[in-house]
Amino acid sequence: MKKQLGLVFFPAFDWAISSTHPERQERLLYTRDQIVEEGLLDLPAIKEYKPRLAEYADVNRVHIGIPDIAALITDAHLVSAGGAITAAQAVMNKEVERAFALVRPPGHHAMRMVHGTRGFCTINIEAIMVEHLRQHYGINKVAIVDTDVHHGDGTQDIFYHDPNTLFISFHQDGRTLYPGTGFIEEMGSPNALGTTMNIPLPPGTGDQGLHTVLDELILPVLNDFKPDIIINSAGQDNHYSDPLANMAITAQGYARMADKLKADIAVLEGGYSIEDALPYVNVGIILAMAGISYKKVVEPDIHKCPSQSKATTEYIQTMVTKWQDIWRRRDVLAKQAKLDAGDFWHRKRSIYYDDSGISEYQKESIRLCSHCSGYYTVETEADRPGAGLQTAFAAVIPRAACPSCKAAGKDAVAAAKRQGHHKYYFLQDKQQDYLEKL
Ligand SMILES: [Zn+2]
Ligand SMILES: [Zn+2]
Repeated sequence: MKKQLGLVFFPAFDWAISSTHPERQERLLYTRDQIVEEGLLDLPAIKEYKPRLAEYADVNRVHIGIPDIAALITDAHLVSAGGAITAAQAVMNKEVERAFALVRPPGHHAMRMVHGTRGFCTINIEAIMVEHLRQHYGINKVAIVDTDVHHGDGTQDIFYHDPNTLFISFHQDGRTLYPGTGFIEEMGSPNALGTTMNIPLPPGTGDQGLHTVLDELILPVLNDFKPDIIINSAGQDNHYSDPLANMAITAQGYARMADKLKADIAVLEGGYSIEDALPYVNVGIILAMAGISYKKVVEPDIHKCPSQSKATTEYIQTMVTKWQDIWRRRDVLAKQAKLDAGDFWHRKRSIYYDDSGISEYQKESIRLCSHCSGYYTVETEADRPGAGLQTAFAAVIPRAACPSCKAAGKDAVAAAKRQGHHKYYFLQDKQQDYLEKL
């Protein structure tokens, strides 16, 4: 008989930024204790899976590590990404209806180009899982709903030019929280305009505001986009007790969200209120995903949850209306953005790696092709303490590249190498599924 929910656990005992860092193994151990205590693993609806190890081919399909991804990660990262893949496989093989990977280290701040660790993330475990599904299971249209309090800037970066991946992130407004991005205006490059949806929420947003966003914006947009699969980047740090943020979501608010979202696969991201919130929020989500009543999951200190202000309620309503309008007009906006940009769309930006003290500067150019989503190039320059200036040029060829973009992408990296201004040169060919260091 098909089970309702597959669970994958990986607390990563041997990986930590430091022993007192908020992102540490206890994050999962308290949840695990609570799950065992409540007898959830004995329920007929739930099946536990052991995580597998992701392969380097899985990682290189998504990331370009400088100088090499193997130099930047540990086995714990491969198990964390592998745990997400295990969860996805259980769903794809129809052993379970849905799956939840409770793994760490997290991944949603890791971008395509990787110089080190930022926001506790080195490789993007959801993106690695998504591209594994595309490569091995023929999945095409994917929606990723990032419900972490921090903007999923890494996932956004990886899928910014991909019209087949709808990335929706709600988070505490970047003007008040790390990583300082995730505004409405970041909505994808012209060939993928509208498939990045950022919903910055004011500090103090509670269950009411969250469910307004969900009911009036996220669920209707998912319904329009019609993804083959829905992934939830499940960060629990919107909880009112979380020490790293300032939101007011409860375990019930999270569980009801999981119930409405009906994600095929959830992957744990942040959540740092280790004892007061994580066990409750995770248990609520597990029950909701398994189709079991979650009504009794209530935090003992629920009276400490602040109520949402009237100003916040109004702000959220205005933003939802604004996004509904953008979503309706996205084709017209995309056409205009293409006209404004011409043959190529360019972007320059600085990226800071808070965990490794690296400042990166990037120049990106994507061809606005009318036959495919376009190849793109990235020039990166990062000052890494102890390793000096790391420079690289990469060309990325999309999975459904037209012959002209495929040839032009290869030519671009070959030409850059002849000019010799960078230290490393990469070709990431998603069509042939390889990463080549030239
Ligand atoms: Zn977070
Ligand atoms: Zn093309």
